Parts: sequence; structure tokens; C-alpha cells
Amino acid sequence: MRSTHRVTLIPGDGIGPEIVDATVRVLEASGAQLRFEECQAGFGGQSRFGHPVPDETVNSLHRNRIGIKGPLLVDRGGQPVVLNGGARYATANAALRGVCAAFANVRPVRSFAGIRGRYADLTIDLVIVREVSEGIYVGREIEIEPDHSAEATLVTTRAASERIARFAFELARRDSRKRVCAVHKANVLGRTDGLFLRSFYDVASEFPDIKAEDQMIDAAAALMVLNPARFDVIVAPNQYGDILSDLAAAIAGGLGVGPGGNFGNEISLFEACHGAAPDIAGRGIANPLALVLSGAMMLDKLGEEVAARRVRNGVEKFLRRGEGLTPDIGGNGTTRQAADRIVALTRDEE
Ligand code: NAD
Repeated sequence: MRSTHRVTLIPGDGIGPEIVDATVRVLEASGAQLRFEECQAGFGGQSRFGHPVPDETVNSLHRNRIGIKGPLLVDRGGQPVVLNGGARYATANAALRGVCAAFANVRPVRSFAGIRGRYADLTIDLVIVREVSEGIYVGREIEIEPDHSAEATLVTTRAASERIARFAFELARRDSRKRVCAVHKANVLGRTDGLFLRSFYDVASEFPDIKAEDQMIDAAAALMVLNPARFDVIVAPNQYGDILSDLAAAIAGGLGVGPGGNFGNEISLFEACHGAAPDIAGRGIANPLALVLSGAMMLDKLGEEVAARRVRNGVEKFLRRGEGLTPDIGGNGTTRQAADRIVALTRDEE
């Protein structure tokens, strides 16, 4: 008898509920036994429970240790999110990562047959491992003189830098990848990015089978545009990883197909690379693929590799056949039509 996995499910804001609904249908068609526990966060949490990250959601994640979420709208310049217990975060997304004690955000980026990326002739297949527990996004921003000067604090520690480097090398070894490239600006930020880089090379010596290299962020951005196929695994501090992963996803096939996952030592939370897309929310045309592929990453983490493969095969067939594609990837289908097709192909009915 196969065990049932309990999963925290956060519909999120904007297009979140539409793509979460599609993803749940595909995951249920994969054959894995899943029980979803629906919880709120973001504007949904605020309106239903008076908090963008309600205690119910925190408790569910602690209990289930695995979750999948739709994107959350972020209130620009909004109040920090303070969790029960006092921890403060810049946004509800950052607070959820904090709840999971997440330190790694993983974004695989690949080109698919059937989606015209920017480079029709290149096969892109890389993974970006972004440090998410520190860096410049720790939320320590102060106004020195209102509207005239402000400062933000960039935090880098050896412990977190070694932890993310080790995570990236272990991922490379597990997925039979050959090279890990650290991205930094150590020539200017010698104390912070310099520490990140030194920690990276110290850990690299434990992985002699994998080539370690580094690039400065400006050069890495240029190389990503000129020849994205040259990258294998990239490990980056918080902000560079954030920017590079959208750049890479956009080059490979658009934001609508970029999956992701946040990993702590005990809790993992999966989410698409893109945001809440308020410009198309409620119109039924959001591309569900990024979240569906995030769901496949979640199945891997649950040890449901066969189900994960079924989902990925379903997505690949869907893209190759090209019927029901959403407008962002060149079709005129709806989220529901795309989901219907992927569900059928995941069940291998066609
Ligand atoms: P976005 O990713 O939401 O949208 C950028 C563009 O890509 C838009 O034109 C949108 O329509 C399109 N797009 C994104 N996802 C798509 C999909 N699945 N299918 C089709 N088209 C898609 O970025 P944004 O506009 O900068 O941000 C909107 C909101 O989302 C903001 O409040 C932002 O803070 C938030 N956001 C949340 C997360 C998260 O929850 N992890 C991540 C990024 C942004």
C-alpha cells in the first residue's frame, strides 16, 4: 500500500488560484497519492485571517514539511511582515521562506521542443541555485534622511556561503552535472562577495569530480545572453540569483515555463519563477506549466520519481503537439484547456 503525502497548498494571489487549480489536477493524474491541505497567504491571508502569513499556514508547513504555492502580490513599500514569535521579513514571500528556514532556491532552466525561445539553435539546460537566507534581501533597509538618502545592509556569512556551495555541488553530483559556477562581484564587494567566493572554493575542494569556476555578475549576465548553453550549475548570492534566474528563464522559453523550489533542512516549498501577473489575472489565460513543473520537482522530493517523470513527459508531449498552448508561448488556449491536455497526457491516455 503506497503512502499518502500530505502537502500544504497555498493558492496565492493574481493568477495563483488559476495555475494552482491546474497543477493540482495534473499532480493528481500522476498516480502519486497526495492529500492537499489548503492554506492562505498573501492578500488571501490578509483578507481571510488578517495576516499575510497566518498561523494556520505556518503550522501546516511545519506539520507537512512540504508545500506548493501560487505567487503572492507584493505591496511595494508595504509594512514588514512580522510572524507570531517576532521574526520580521520584508515580504510575505520572504516570511514563507523564513518559516521553511529555506536557504536554497533552485530554478532549473531548460529549453523545450515546441517553445521558441530566443535561441532556436541552442539547447539550454542549467540550474540556478540561489542563496535565500541572507544577502541584500534581509530586509535591513533604513532611511537616513527621508526622500534624500537610505541604506540597506548586505549580510554574508561563511556558514551560509559554505552551506549553499555544498548544496550546489551535491545537486551537481546527484544530477550528473559537470560544472558549478559561482557568481559574485568580489572585486568591488571584497568583504561580502569575497567571503562568498572564498567559501565556495573551500567547499569545491571536497568535490574533485566537479569543475568549480566563477564569474562576476556583470560578465555572467552578458555570457547568459551570448551563450546560455555554456552554463551547467550556477550558485549565486540572493540578489544576483534572483535576477539571473528571470533572465535565464526568459531566454529559454519565457517566465511561464520556469519552475522552482525553496529548500531548508526540513521543509521544502515549491513555486513558479514568475509572479502573480495581475495584468492577466482572472482572464483564464495564465500558463500553468511553470507551477506544474514545480510540482514535478515536489514529486521528486517526495521520492515519487515515477510520478514526476509522468508529469514531465506529459508536459513535453503537450509542448511538442502544440495544441492548447497559452498565449504567452504562442497559442490561443486557456489555462483550463492546457490543464485538460496535460492531465490526459500525464495519464498517458493519448
Ligand atoms: P510577473 O512575473 O507577475 O509578470 C511579468 C510578466 O510575465 C507579465 O506580463 C505577466 O503577465 C507575465 N507572466 C508571468 N507569469 C505568467 C504565466 N504563468 N502565464 C502567462 N504570463 C505570465 O512579474 P511582475 O509583474 O513584476 O510582478 C507582479 C506581482 O507578483 C508583484 O506584486 C510582484 O511583487 C509579485 N511577485 C511574486 C513572486 C512570488 O510570489 N514568488 C515572484 C515575483 C513577483
